[in-house]
Amino acid sequence: MKILLVSSEVNPYSKTGGLGDMVGALGKALAHAGHRVGIVTPLYAGIREKVPGLQKLALPLDLPLGSRQVTAEVWSLDLSPSLTIYFIDQPSFYFRPGLYGERGGEYPDNAERFIFFSKAAARLAIDLPWQPEVAHAHDWQSGLVPILLQHQRLQAGWQSPIRTCMTIHNLAYQGLFPAWDYALTNLPSDYFNLNGVEFYGLMNCLKAGIACADVITTVSPRYAREITTPEFGCGLDGLLRKRQDSLFGILNGVDYEEWRTSRNPFLKHSFSGNNLAGKAKNKLALQAEMGLPVAADIPLFGSVTRLADQKGIELTLGALEEMLERRMQFVLLGSGDPAFEKAYRDLAVRHPDRVAVRIGFDAGLSHRIEAAADFYLMPSKFEPCGLNQMYSLRYGAIPIVRATGGLDDSVIDLADDPEHANGIKFSDYNTAALAKSIRKALALYGAPDLLRHYRRNAMAADFSWERVVDSYAKVYGASQPA
Ligand code: ADP
Repeated sequence: MKILLVSSEVNPYSKTGGLGDMVGALGKALAHAGHRVGIVTPLYAGIREKVPGLQKLALPLDLPLGSRQVTAEVWSLDLSPSLTIYFIDQPSFYFRPGLYGERGGEYPDNAERFIFFSKAAARLAIDLPWQPEVAHAHDWQSGLVPILLQHQRLQAGWQSPIRTCMTIHNLAYQGLFPAWDYALTNLPSDYFNLNGVEFYGLMNCLKAGIACADVITTVSPRYAREITTPEFGCGLDGLLRKRQDSLFGILNGVDYEEWRTSRNPFLKHSFSGNNLAGKAKNKLALQAEMGLPVAADIPLFGSVTRLADQKGIELTLGALEEMLERRMQFVLLGSGDPAFEKAYRDLAVRHPDRVAVRIGFDAGLSHRIEAAADFYLMPSKFEPCGLNQMYSLRYGAIPIVRATGGLDDSVIDLADDPEHANGIKFSDYNTAALAKSIRKALALYGAPDLLRHYRRNAMAADFSWERVVDSYAKVYGASQPA
């Protein structure tokens, strides 16, 4: 099959969260499975310096954007004969310090930036000489791709309709803009209605994709069910129920080439399920790096996260307040909401021997925390898939998660299955429930045989992309995934 993925983030070129990880890994896995794959993404500041060998494509873009014309160049990078990245080079839109905004605020012209991006991708879908059969859009930033292609399909003379797939990585981010921004699409007004782009008088980019794509996927089976309910549907549950027959939940995979515990350039010491000495050394190294007391026998909890309400930050802060009297340590790497950043900094000031906090985005440190931690905290309010719990499983950091979305689909609690238990799960969204789980973790830490059993299960869990790539191929062909 010939597939064009469209995404505003692709690891390792750009990433603010799981979207970048997923698209980078899915592209590689599809190509590895024998498909022809292209990935379209913006050329952000810094990419050209990081990636030598970009080739200018003889496909200059000159597209209408409302009342003006905007030009762009396309630069390509062949990662293999069957995997090409296409970077959309429009410096006034994408050459900025952030992907979507700066200092906690969104760029005011994000409608223009990503409507243009969607148009550029739709143009490539039509004009690339290898003629993609499927255009696979990800999240609101490329949500208009299905509708732009559907519109083309209806135009006379275009004989090879491309199938479209829309993946929802997080329904809470929909790309809502004032109605007048719809003019930037240059589409006829017929699409601006209840069944298309319109949402309570606003323009909704993700809704456009959900309404028009041939198939819709989201990143875990449980989240696929959850988003059809008012509680998780963010106002789109009615539409999602209507499209239920075309909606599939496919759990994300992990790129184990990147997330590996041996010969990992980010880790000082290699380790494995059978040889945990390296993990213990990584723990001592991280304690030293973060300025915490260096001691092998203090249980170490870790968290690497966007500091957003979704991630259950208030629960973590509350439960830690209660638990930090015990002998334990907590390390956080994160950035986001300035109020949460401050709350964590304050916590570290009040508990210098227990808590270490780094505010920022640091790929290397995220690996070192997963490798060092005994336990990993992820008490999300909702979680479409979540990748960090899967990384922590592989790195032997027992995940403590709330049973929602992909967290529920990927972590096994003792109560679910004692033989295969690899984590600690709780249901109620409150501080007491998380504090209770932390107490369970401390008890587990005091029972080395049981802890070893958990670790063995955790590190053996297999979320490789090879296991899921067929499900996407099936969905592209509109049959049930495995
Ligand atoms: P989400 O996409 O909702 O942010 P996921 O768990 O699916 O959550 O994916 C988060 C990804 O972003 C992981 O690869 C995680 O390691 C990474 N990440 C999040 N915050 C940071 C940070 N401050 N520094 C480095 N990596 C981070």
